[in-house]
Formats: sequence, structure tokens, C-alpha cells
Amino acid sequence: MDLCDLHTHSTASDGTARPAEVVRIAKRIGLRALALTDHDTLAGIEEAATEARHLGVELIPGCEISLDGVPGTFHMTGIGVDPSDRVLRERLDFVRVGREGRNAEMAKKLAALGFPVTMEEVAAEAGGDVVGRPHFARVLVKKGVVSDFREAFDRFLGKGRPAYADRDRLPLPDAIAAIHGAGGAAVLAHPYTVSFPTPGELEAWLRATAAAGLDGIETVYTEHSASDTSRYRDLAARCGLLESGGSDFHGDNKANTEVGVGKGGLRIPYSLWEALRDRARSRRGAGTR
Ligand code: AMP
Ligand code: ZN
Ligand code: FE
Ligand code: FE
Repeated sequence: MDLCDLHTHSTASDGTARPAEVVRIAKRIGLRALALTDHDTLAGIEEAATEARHLGVELIPGCEISLDGVPGTFHMTGIGVDPSDRVLRERLDFVRVGREGRNAEMAKKLAALGFPVTMEEVAAEAGGDVVGRPHFARVLVKKGVVSDFREAFDRFLGKGRPAYADRDRLPLPDAIAAIHGAGGAAVLAHPYTVSFPTPGELEAWLRATAAAGLDGIETVYTEHSASDTSRYRDLAARCGLLESGGSDFHGDNKANTEVGVGKGGLRIPYSLWEALRDRARSRRGAGTR
């Protein structure tokens, strides 16, 4: 069976492997296709696509966008987008600008707690297009403030912790319109992080979001158990949603998670991508831009 990975990160956002390196790993383990889905940026796509052409891997341009409006954490991947699409690029620019104020606020909070971190230090740690909490975490580890990445989130950077600051997010309709307008499929990433109090509320929300244009949900995901996967598969079918699958590879910023295989057992059929691609194509054909 041909396999793929529809959710990965590189140094263009908060991964630690270069875009070309992510493609090389995909080639090494024999994936037919790889989506690079960096947070809030398409800056890694060109490098990844060049390497993919050399190696004969199909590179699927993508991105991951953080949204709000639900309890827990709501991330959406746009898969198979045109990286030159003007509206999508403008939307992602808006989100990255919002990060600048937020990062300054987190730096201020850390300083007030007695652990100063400068914007120069986090920018140097990031080295790419997007500066986020994982870069703050790495700086705190390097300075010996915390002993590891996890402690940085548990003590300071996690939602609700004392150095956390929120940031501007795109409204859901804008995110979906930007992804569809760029020819991509809109997918709910790691659905287990959306934490409605009851399964019924999750299902009602998914139905409404599907009606608003959501194309699929990640049923196959590194953190999902086999029973999670089958539960989300049933849910997707009931809501008229397609399935997606991804490792959410971040290099050293996400422990024991490898391209294509997650913590070892992930298998993502290439046919999931074909179905998402076909749905995105039919939306284009139907002119729902
Ligand atoms: P940001 O987009 O700057 O808010 O950072 C979000 C990223 O930080 C996520 O994609 C994860 O890679 C990482 N992250 C968020 N919460 C945690 C956590 N509790 N432990 C470890 N990493 C986390
Ligand atoms: Zn990330
Ligand atoms: Fe995510
Ligand atoms: Fe991700």
C-alpha cells in the first residue's frame, strides 16, 4: 500500500529539521507523498518542493492555522494549497504579525517572573519565519531555567501558565475560505484536543463546521490509540467528513515522533490524500471560492 504523511513541521515554523531534511526522511522510509504543514507560513514549501523533485517524492504544500471558538485547542491544516495564493498569504501574514505582540508580552511576563528572555534570543533560536512558544521553551532550557522542554510548558508557557499570552487568530470562515480559495482541503488536526464536555456536543459542532466547509478530520494521528482512530473514523463518516492522517513531526521539539510513522505504528494510506484532493478539486469545479 502506498503511504503518506499529511501533517509535518520544519524549521520554517517550530520544527527542528530543515524542509529538505523532512523530505529526505519521507524518501528514506518510502512515503509516496508528504505534506509540509508549518504553522502560519508557507516559507518552507519551496525548499521542500525542490528536494522532493530531486528525490521523486510528491510534496503537498500545506500549512496549519490555530483557531478559537471551541473549548480546548483547535488547529486546522490546509492541505494541497497553492503556495502563491495571494489571499492565503495575506491571511498568514496577519497571523504572523499577531505573534510579534504576543511574543513581546510573553518575554515581559518571563522577565517579571525573574527569567528574562530577549526577542533576539528567541528569534535566533527560531531561525525561520515563525517564532513561537517552542522557541521560548528551548531558550529556557539553554539558560538552565528549566531542565527540559516539557517543564518549560508545564511551569511557564502552557495555556493558563504564568508566561502564557494569547494571540490574534483568524475567524473560522476566513480560514476555511483562504484554504479553499488556494485550492486546498481544510482538515481538523488532532481532534482529541477539541474538548467539548460531551461526545454529542463535539458531533453537533463537527456537523456545523462541516456545513461551513470543513473537509476532513485527522483520524490517524500520533497521539491517537487504535480505539481513538476508529471512534473518529465513525464520527467522520456520520458527519460527511473525509479522513486525514499525520505524524505532526516536529523533529526534536516533539519527542519520539517520526515522519510517517509517529511513535512507530502509524500507517497513513495515500488514498486518504487522494480523497481529500478530489474533494478540493470538486470545490474548485463548483466555483465555491
Ligand atoms: P504557539 O503556536 O507558539 O502557540 O506554539 C504551539 C506549539 O507549541 C504546538 O504546536 C506544540 O508544538 C507546542 N506545545 C504547545 N503546548 C505544549 C505542551 N504543553 N508541551 C509541549 N509542547 C507544547
Ligand atoms: Zn508546532
Ligand atoms: Fe497542531
Ligand atoms: Fe502540527
